[in-house]
Amino acid sequence: METDPVCGMQVDPDTAAAAWEYEGTVYYFCSVGCLEDFKKDPGAFVGGAKRKEM
Ligand SMILES: [Zn+2]
Repeated sequence: METDPVCGMQVDPDTAAAAWEYEGTVYYFCSVGCLEDFKKDPGAFVGGAKRKEM
């Protein structure tokens, strides 16, 4: 399972509604809406945001 970086849902790559490659990593999304949000500002969902939680 992969984690949808937008909403945090666990997503099965085989059944994911959408996938998008960003900086060499493929991210999977539960819905096209999450992908649209990700595309608007990928940096908000990877790197910085995650590091803050950890
Ligand atoms: Zn989602």
